[in-house]
Amino acid sequence: MPSGEWQFKLLNMQNWLFKNKTILSILDKYKDMWALSYASGVAGWDLETYMPEMGAMARGEALGRLSTIRQRLFLDKEFIGLIHRAEKQKNLTDPERGVIRVLLHSLKFYEKLPPKFLEDFSRLTSQATVVWRGAKAKDNFKLFEPQLSKIFDMNRRMSDFLGYKDSPYDALLDQFEEGLTSREVERFFGEIKEPLKNLLVRIEKSPKFFKKHKLENALYDEATIKSLNLKIMKLLWADSSRLRLDISTHPFTTSFSNTDTRITTWYHKKDFGRSILAVVHEFGHALYDLQCTDQLEMTPIQGGSSLVIHESQSRFWENFVGRSESFIQYFLKDMSAAVQLKLSAGEVYSYFNKVRPGLLRVEADEVTYHFHIMLRFEIEKGLIEGKLKVKDLPEIWNSKMKDYLGIVPKRDSDGILQDIHWSMGSVGYFPTYSLGTFLGAQWEHEISNMKISKSTNYKEIEKWLGEHIHKYGSTYTLEELLKKNGMKFDPKVNLNYLLEKYSKIY
Ligand code: MG
Repeated sequence: MPSGEWQFKLLNMQNWLFKNKTILSILDKYKDMWALSYASGVAGWDLETYMPEMGAMARGEALGRLSTIRQRLFLDKEFIGLIHRAEKQKNLTDPERGVIRVLLHSLKFYEKLPPKFLEDFSRLTSQATVVWRGAKAKDNFKLFEPQLSKIFDMNRRMSDFLGYKDSPYDALLDQFEEGLTSREVERFFGEIKEPLKNLLVRIEKSPKFFKKHKLENALYDEATIKSLNLKIMKLLWADSSRLRLDISTHPFTTSFSNTDTRITTWYHKKDFGRSILAVVHEFGHALYDLQCTDQLEMTPIQGGSSLVIHESQSRFWENFVGRSESFIQYFLKDMSAAVQLKLSAGEVYSYFNKVRPGLLRVEADEVTYHFHIMLRFEIEKGLIEGKLKVKDLPEIWNSKMKDYLGIVPKRDSDGILQDIHWSMGSVGYFPTYSLGTFLGAQWEHEISNMKISKSTNYKEIEKWLGEHIHKYGSTYTLEELLKKNGMKFDPKVNLNYLLEKYSKIY
């Protein structure tokens, strides 16, 4: 469809979804901000995939300026006036209320944080990412320590600007998952800690427990895995005209519209499961955006925004599809070809579903993963509340690793320096990974009648997820969406699933 026609179709459709005059004026003005986000999104995707290294300085500058322009548009008096006028109106539809909710949340951020603070923060974090990379390569936390101290100082100040009730950390959590508090996160971790620990102890005592699977060290032919990944994409989502796969240092998903979504994966010469499961995981994120209703395009509620819901989608696909018997069986020949071994389905299944304490969060299994998050949560909260000091972090990290997983990293790059998040200024992000994973199991529970592990026809599942989650974009908060589906967040569902599954394997 030519783009003019597409826009015409879109505008006509919006007329029935958004009727309120004030909302329509807001959406009209918002299109400029949407276009800026779109441009930043494309520039950000390119930065991670194809940009030559020397482009970093100019790209950083351009992205910084785009975000300043966006803030300026946001803080336009007329625009703010419209939002506040709409806020007071009754009889708004759900999508209209969603638009206002999302805009008010952004407005709070832009209004409360002084522009100078935002500019300093943006400069600090773009430099810190470079410093972090260097420190990680040299295995030396001391090189990153000054930047990290500044980042936590600024995050602490940010929480003061934004305001909070109980803990300053709550103001930061709210930036990633609207309304989430440290008390809720603590209650959640309190509920899962013991059962997961007990399960891990049982697994480690099992005669079937192993430290390393032979497939982790098996070298693979990259071209074969690359074409296998494309086959996987095709099986999961037939319409390649709306989705593409590229390579980046760390897998991610980005969506410009529900007609253009990008995912990436990585290749490490060995351990092919990491590349494959990354594709399935990122596809889960992509699907959320691909199945968002057309009428929400170019609005503030386009695509999924709640990080917990987003991660619940990626984890759903990774854990229940990617690690399933049927999926492994379907691609067994290709996997065998990639490592030039005659693999059995059972062998790959035990490789894809191994559990053992490890040093790296991104390599962690379904059971130990959450200990990595608990450790980060405790450290972040302690630093933001002023109870811990950045200079003591390597030591704190190691002692918590010993407590949770019984192992200690020998190098900073396998410990405190492993994640990029802090260097980017993101504090309060990690808990959404665990919460999302647990929610992912609840979606599976809802559709357990579809027997995901027994088939490779995923159409019906996609349709269900589209109808119950994706089509709404960011219309609802996590809590509202669960209520709409007659659900409540319940960690027991994932705990039971893990217990049942891993008691069978180990
Ligand atoms: Mg993810």
